[in-house]
Amino acid sequence: MGEYPESPARELSAAWQAASAALGQWREQVSEATTEAVAKLDPAFRAAVEALRAAVTGNWGNCRCPCATAHPQDPGVCDHSAILGRRIGDEEVALCAPCAVAQGVAEMRR
Ligand SMILES: [Zn+2]
Ligand SMILES: [Zn+2]
Repeated sequence: MGEYPESPARELSAAWQAASAALGQWREQVSEATTEAVAKLDPAFRAAVEALRAAVTGNWGNCRCPCATAHPQDPGVCDHSAILGRRIGDEEVALCAPCAVAQGVAEMRR
């Protein structure tokens, strides 16, 4: 905490790594199982979401998650409370934690 006060982006990237590690395990389970596992929001997904939430304390208001296109396989995870911005195309889009994680998952599936 406060190790890199000048660089909140670094905290976020550390949190993102933690989230990705959790998601890596999750992905292995999901590839063995089916989309049923995805629908259940495995604890690893929650852990990843919590890691992001813990690292990013900003209050961005409502998110503008492009859920339908960014993670069509995980609808309904959005909690509508934006905590970070992510570049999508030419736009900086405010995302909530579960959507950011779900997008990471969607990207890993490719
Ligand atoms: Zn979303
Ligand atoms: Zn959202």
